[in-house]
Amino acid sequence: MTLTEKILARAAGKAQVQAGDNVWVKADILMTHDVCGPGTIGVFRREFGKNARVWDRNKIVIIPDHYIFTVDSKSNRNVDILREFVNEQRIDYFYDVIDDPNGHWTFDATQGQLKRQYGSNFAGVCHTALPQKGHTRPGEILFGTDSHTCMAGAFNEFATGIGNTDAGFVMGTGKLLLKVPETMHFRLEGKLRPGLMAKDVILQCIGEIGFDGATYRAMQFDGPAAAHLSMDDRMTIANMAIEAGGKNGIFEFDAQTQAYVDHRCKLNGTKATYEPVERDREEKFVYELVVDLSKLEPVVACHPDPGQRKLAKELNHVKLDRAYIGSCTGGKTSDFLDFARIIRGKHVAIDTFGVPATPEIVRDLQAARWDDKTVWQILVEAGVQMTENASCAACLGGPTDTFGRMNTPMKCISATNRNFPGRMGHKESQVFLASPMTVAASAITGKITDPREFLS
Ligand code: SF4
Repeated sequence: MTLTEKILARAAGKAQVQAGDNVWVKADILMTHDVCGPGTIGVFRREFGKNARVWDRNKIVIIPDHYIFTVDSKSNRNVDILREFVNEQRIDYFYDVIDDPNGHWTFDATQGQLKRQYGSNFAGVCHTALPQKGHTRPGEILFGTDSHTCMAGAFNEFATGIGNTDAGFVMGTGKLLLKVPETMHFRLEGKLRPGLMAKDVILQCIGEIGFDGATYRAMQFDGPAAAHLSMDDRMTIANMAIEAGGKNGIFEFDAQTQAYVDHRCKLNGTKATYEPVERDREEKFVYELVVDLSKLEPVVACHPDPGQRKLAKELNHVKLDRAYIGSCTGGKTSDFLDFARIIRGKHVAIDTFGVPATPEIVRDLQAARWDDKTVWQILVEAGVQMTENASCAACLGGPTDTFGRMNTPMKCISATNRNFPGRMGHKESQVFLASPMTVAASAITGKITDPREFLS
């Protein structure tokens, strides 16, 4: 069996499963957020009754993160609906925007977008917050009401996005009927050269198979190069499995996974035991690709989908209006550090927005010092508009006052993960997906630029 099949077999209580089997699996965690949470709660109440209790209040994680820093009253109300439900059901893990359990969330626009407006429990973007807060464990099943839930496959778990109806069912029963996906095998070899990042690896793979090339399939990433990727890198790659239509992305378990997970579970007092899965000698794949990382060049996924791969150096004629670094995919600490290595000592030529994925990442960047300045200061002095309000921000467009949202047709290079028309705001805008380093180089020149031009 493949890694995905092994996890699903165990969660189904079976010795063996194969692609195409329909099995009932037990959930270890159900995650939801402010956009889908109210709908999920509605389904749960409708189907199980208004006095029903959730299946396990210790296994539901609720993370408001999408449309938070906006004056839009319906968006603010969604956060309040989550809080009321958490109080009613006594759910253990709720990363509220405010500290008052009986309060109401409203964003104060008069304070501007840059200074933090959240309380001490706020966790930021769900997929980045889940591992940071100790909710991702090897061998487990994670369901989330968000397509990029697959990011947690970096931790050797089966993690996938589900709709509100399925999530309402999981909320009431703790289980879900799943078809076991076929597995595609991506063997990573070689070593990334300077100027290249994990984002280039996944854009390379998606470019190879197309934005629907992995539809309802597991994408298994392994091989000697995978073992050398950091957890942040593995998260970037697993996150974008869905951009090829993948059901999930998954990595092997190793000492690095163990160190990360053990540390985070201990830090947050979450469940510390887990059972990883290892590769079998016999694995059945429907597709195999060997990717030699040492041969990759910086790539960009052009408008209008993540499969439109081109080399960054061939797009030097594309003039840009905006650059954006942020999201679960490209707003991690390591993403900002690599971005800052290119930007340092220079100035951006176009509007450039920086949105760390979580408050912890804001703190990391404000604490990290390069000579006499923090990385945060270096970015601000280079002209990057850095907000402390960690969230999804313009990655998903959002209300018109969302930080970084494209409200007019424009061209933007972005470290995010999705570029379908209208994704970051105006439906006539064009989004070019790239690594944080390529975004940095392009922000400096105002056109799509290979970051190796800025490496000393
Ligand atoms: S940052 Fe973007 S991709 Fe990630 S959860 Fe938020 S909207 Fe989705």
